[in-house]
Amino acid sequence: METVLSPTRRVQRVRHEIRRRDVQVARVEPLGACFVRVVFIGSALEGFTSLGFDDHLKFFCADPAGGEPARRDYTPRHWDAARQELTIDFALHGHGLASNWARQASAGQSAVIAGPRGSMIVPTDYAWHLLIGDATAAPAIGRRLAELPAEARVIVLVDLLDLAMLELDHCAVRPSVIQVQGDDALVAAVASMALPPGEGFAWAAGESSTMARVRDLLLVSKGHPREASRVAAYWKRGAADFHEELNLPASAT
Ligand SMILES: Cc1cc2nc3c(=O)[nH]c(=O)nc-3n(C[C@H](O)[C@H](O)[C@H](O)COP(=O)(O)OP(=O)(O)OC[C@H]3O[C@@H](n4cnc5c(N)ncnc54)[C@H](O)[C@@H]3O)c2cc1C
Repeated sequence: METVLSPTRRVQRVRHEIRRRDVQVARVEPLGACFVRVVFIGSALEGFTSLGFDDHLKFFCADPAGGEPARRDYTPRHWDAARQELTIDFALHGHGLASNWARQASAGQSAVIAGPRGSMIVPTDYAWHLLIGDATAAPAIGRRLAELPAEARVIVLVDLLDLAMLELDHCAVRPSVIQVQGDDALVAAVASMALPPGEGFAWAAGESSTMARVRDLLLVSKGHPREASRVAAYWKRGAADFHEELNLPASAT
């Protein structure tokens, strides 16, 4: 008898209690020209949990215009529970409160984070994994690569100038990496890609309009099951603080 796998039952969602945590910058490490890695410490990190590779937390940064601090979404790139150290990789882009904060960050500075609110736990035993994204997605992709077993079949498609921040040398898995430059090249690479056979999980994150095109290609043109995918807008050209899930079933939007 043939076993029919149901992708819906394979992804687990876990809720966490949201806590606001005051943290301090322990150290800052430049990661090539386009990223800054900031490691945070502080007793308020006691009990911090991040179970999913694409979890996100809220990073609060002062708004020079005054008023309430601005909040931006960032991926916990690494949580070292033994050392109580939380690492966030900030992509440096033209202008933006969080990006500007990261540019000037230095040891001893204070910051505030909250979350993650929940985690999506994607099993690592899919027949294949497809990871697509730009610089904002690179922390989640790097984290996923670090947790996948050596035997996993993985395709990484990134619009990234420098692959160093994926830290492939620290990963057991040996992915096929396709590196492109620009939105159109990313979309064209998805369009020309043949998805491998078997039950796979497709994950994509990046600029809103680009990710809408990627979603249409994966879920409509290629017929990949929505339940075995996540496509998210991590930012939107011309808009501050933008986040949208792009592959939710119509009933959930
Ligand atoms: C779930 C999730 C996880 C994320 N994880 C990370 C992460 O780990 N690391 C990371 O660097 N980013 C991450 N992002 C993206 C980050 O939240 C956005 O890029 C955010 O807009 C940056 O805030 P800002 O204050 O610098 O810019 P904003 O004030 O939000 O935006 C100012 C201007 O900059 C533009 N802009 C924003 N981001 C970019 C960009 N990357 N490139 C070019 N222009 C941009 C906006 O369109 C706007 O015009 C994540 C987003 C989400 C939703």
